[in-house]
Amino acid sequence: MTIAAVICSEELWQTGHGENHPLKPERLQRGYELLTAYGAFDGHQSRLVRPRPAAREELQLFHGEEYLDAVRSLSRGEKEYTPSRYNFGPGDNPIFDGMYDIAALKVGAALVATELVTNGDVDVAFSLAGGMHHARSDYASGFCIFNDIAVIIHVLLRQGLKVAYVDIDLHHGDGVQEAFYDNDRVLTVSIHESGYYVFPGTGFVRETGRGVGEGFAVNLPLAPYTDDEVYVWAFEQVVPPLLKWFEPDVVVSQLGVDTHYLDPLGHLTLTTHGYTEVVGMIKELAPRWIALGGGGYETSVMPRAWTLAYGVMSDRDFPDELPAAYAEKYGSGTLRDQKTPHVEPRTKDVARRHASLAIAELREKIPGLRQ
Ligand SMILES: [Zn+2]
Repeated sequence: MTIAAVICSEELWQTGHGENHPLKPERLQRGYELLTAYGAFDGHQSRLVRPRPAAREELQLFHGEEYLDAVRSLSRGEKEYTPSRYNFGPGDNPIFDGMYDIAALKVGAALVATELVTNGDVDVAFSLAGGMHHARSDYASGFCIFNDIAVIIHVLLRQGLKVAYVDIDLHHGDGVQEAFYDNDRVLTVSIHESGYYVFPGTGFVRETGRGVGEGFAVNLPLAPYTDDEVYVWAFEQVVPPLLKWFEPDVVVSQLGVDTHYLDPLGHLTLTTHGYTEVVGMIKELAPRWIALGGGGYETSVMPRAWTLAYGVMSDRDFPDELPAAYAEKYGSGTLRDQKTPHVEPRTKDVARRHASLAIAELREKIPGLRQ
């Protein structure tokens, strides 16, 4: 019997990056409302837990003091720090009122998830607002201010645990990779659209770690228009063998759903079927599991994908018809995608060949993938 928890509360969607920014707070509200409408938190095997703000000392497990001071000051509208020095400004990382508090609350949500899992209270905890994988110790990047993932991995390392990080967001998990690049107690695996086509322009096979961490950073870049079939196949070639070799104590995963064919930010063409299958494989591989949300910018997709992911986590098979309470507010539809995007056979061949070549190269470079 699996016991699962979701970490979420309405404070998480009270503040946001601003009107035209893709990281819309409503995404979280809709995800929470869909889970609630399905009764996902009813029963003894599922819990809804409120986040708490991360304390400064907790943020300092990863972030530098000056950066924390700068974010706090900029957040209050003060002029003491130069925004561009910390990568704030118009575009991806605008300054907004209350950004320190909301970013610290997102880290706190991941810390609550970590505590629930490491205390043995639950088998899996899912922080919907988490997965800020681009943030660096001393600057913001790709909509991410504080890196909840890097902070909780430091907490897990302090407890002597070996951590496998699996990132299925459309974008390369560059901030987390860099944070543990020279560490052999953290295996980072990121599967993403190739950096040739999208932000952040990294995540190539040749990035394999440094020093004792050599072989503990793994990247599987994929071609545009990679679909469910190629994606699931590629994931199976890399992630299960690596995790069986590494034998982690805990798996941390970033479950971004910007890989979906309707997502405005990328060019992969997954549906909820491929996404759910991969989440199911992560569950099979994880002795204990901390899951974080991540990207996903099409608001009709993200709540459904996260509900399906939580269905996997909590062993529930939610009915396909969206609950009336949710459908009345946001429009009717089905939980699972009914359509599959059309990908030209030639394009699909290119995607398959791209994935095969990357996997062959990984098998040469990564000891954990040598049979
Ligand atoms: Zn993303």
